[in-house]
Amino acid sequence: MANGCRLIILGPPGAGKGTQARQIALKIGVKHVDCGQVVRGEVTNETEFGRKAKEYMVSGRLVPDELIIGIMHKCLGQEECADGFLLDGFPRTVVQAKALDEFLDGCGVHLDYIICLEITEETAVKRLSSRRYCPKCGRVYNLLTMPPKVPGQCECGGKLEQRPDDMPETILNRMKVYEKETAPLIDFYSDRDGYLEFDGNKPGEEVSDEIVRAIREGGNC
Ligand code: ADP
Ligand code: AMP
Repeated sequence: MANGCRLIILGPPGAGKGTQARQIALKIGVKHVDCGQVVRGEVTNETEFGRKAKEYMVSGRLVPDELIIGIMHKCLGQEECADGFLLDGFPRTVVQAKALDEFLDGCGVHLDYIICLEITEETAVKRLSSRRYCPKCGRVYNLLTMPPKVPGQCECGGKLEQRPDDMPETILNRMKVYEKETAPLIDFYSDRDGYLEFDGNKPGEEVSDEIVRAIREGGNC
């Protein structure tokens, strides 16, 4: 597990983590690991993890650390992550961040970049209320800012849906959970080599160009 680039992307719900991670992973050639999509897949498939995680997910709370750490270690240990990955939605607590450090240490590698997206709460709430996603491939659209070419349909042919946790009350709860549980990660990571901050309020392409340029110029991988 020694080659490749290992990155995480942080930011509040709606900051554009999934949208950016998809683009950046393609451009720099690493596996995009979307933790929220892993959770949704397990819930849909009604696995043991999915049954335990469902109530947390639909109410906008975080799945308990010990459950999510177990499932993410399994993902990161797979062959497709051996040459690098971009983790989106994990870690989300300091406990998860410490577990990730330990896991990477054990593999003799470390995080090359920590990408942090900043966004105003008003923009985030607006984006999440108009977000649509494809349960088949995980691709994300926005009715206002990034609409699908064919209304209601993903490019893969899947039927677009609104996430149950993108309803107004749940969005506000997720923002509170972010402030309490995940925002402390900024302090945890901000003095590390490879920590980069970006303004996520800008148009998507502008943000991904800035991120990819910073990664290429940074020389960490
Ligand atoms: P996160 O993964 O951080 O929750 P997403 O990537 O799912 O955020 O983006 C949230 C919503 O905002 C989606 O509907 C997406 O299409 C849209 N979006 C993402 N980035 C931008 C942007 N820079 N400008 C406008 N809309 C965006
Ligand atoms: P996301 O798609 O990233 O917005 O995640 C959707 C939901 O999945 C979250 O609101 C949580 O319930 C759960 N989830 C995703 N990632 C994590 C994580 N790292 N820790 C705990 N719960 C998570």
